Amino acid sequence: MQISLPHQTQDWLFGSDPKQRIRLRRTLGASGIYLLAAIGQWWSAELELAQPQLAHALILCLAPGLCGFYLLMRSGLNQPFADPALTLQQMVFAIVAMAAAYVINPPVRGMLLMIVALVLMYAAFMLSPRASRALGFFAVTLLGLVMLAMATYAPQVFDPTIEAIHFVFAAVILPVVSMLAGDLSAMRTRLKEQKAELQDALARIHKLATRDDLTGLINRRHMEELATLEQRRAQRNGGLPCLCLVDIDHFKRINDVHGHAAGDEVLRLFARHASASMRETDVLARWGGEEFLVMLPDTRPEEARTGFERLKRVLSRDEAWGGRLHLRVSFSAGLTAWRPGETLRDALARADHALYEAKASGRDRLVER
Ligand code: GH3
Ligand code: MG
Ligand code: MG
Repeated sequence: MQISLPHQTQDWLFGSDPKQRIRLRRTLGASGIYLLAAIGQWWSAELELAQPQLAHALILCLAPGLCGFYLLMRSGLNQPFADPALTLQQMVFAIVAMAAAYVINPPVRGMLLMIVALVLMYAAFMLSPRASRALGFFAVTLLGLVMLAMATYAPQVFDPTIEAIHFVFAAVILPVVSMLAGDLSAMRTRLKEQKAELQDALARIHKLATRDDLTGLINRRHMEELATLEQRRAQRNGGLPCLCLVDIDHFKRINDVHGHAAGDEVLRLFARHASASMRETDVLARWGGEEFLVMLPDTRPEEARTGFERLKRVLSRDEAWGGRLHLRVSFSAGLTAWRPGETLRDALARADHALYEAKASGRDRLVER
């Protein structure tokens, strides 16, 4: 099998788990910001805008941000965390790193506030609105303290008026960004919930459309679709199915003697025993009232008989009916092999005829036509 290089590279970089891949992509995206910040530090040191030792120390500290979080995720060590994307940890790390860069790079410190705003936007991916606001508050407080400390202890470099302007900017803009990110996150959560509800509803609708309520078996409409599909498949690949119409004998009597609820229970139990007696590939449907249709793909009639004999043996035991009703439940069956080119309706007519013969000749038997 040919795997193109980009796919291989992607697998190598992000692994194969789709959720981990998204987290790793996002982390690598964030690492891009660290990389820019690290290059900025290095450049500032080169231009002597920042103290070289401090700038290089910060670059060293940024390294865990660059590859530490990535390695943590790539190795799967993030999985036990409540939020395996480590959103909060990554954001706190980034904000602290930006606060340090603010101290080290006085001439460009104003720009760093924009990066902090960008970092706060990451809350939109995972954090609750409350956590997002708390993080905004943390960023403003940390930067405020840094600005106050620098304006107090190094006023010749960190002009107190400029620091005051920066603080007002941070105190107004950052909480707004956090609120917006929180709102986005809440919207994502709502959308996720709605998607799950929709999937649930679709599954329920599909079940209603394809299953019989009482027995849980496939209903008539769905069986017609499946039989037509099976016939098409068989005409291409060979191995036509057998069809067998099964009707419970004297079912009306069960209703009359034991009541309609008991009749319902017999239908449910019959469906369960019939499903268990057939092969996994056989398809069993409730065709109507107390009548069932079994489709046995790629099966010859002689083979088909085995399942019905097994079912007959099961039904003859008292335990089959919960040991309560002491019922004698038998069934008659009309079996036919689907012939090439024949419609479902024609094949069914022959099975129905066979069933009629089984009833007419004394019931509790299988007739093949
Ligand atoms: P035969 O051996 O000739 O098939 O006789 P039978 O009594 O089984 O057949 P008949 O067609 O005379 O009666 C079928 C009965 O099945 C009539 C109907 O009230 C009952 N029935 C159909 N659907 C249900 C159902 O969902 N629950 C219950 N309890 N009875 C049902
Ligand atoms: Mg009947
Ligand atoms: Mg009937």
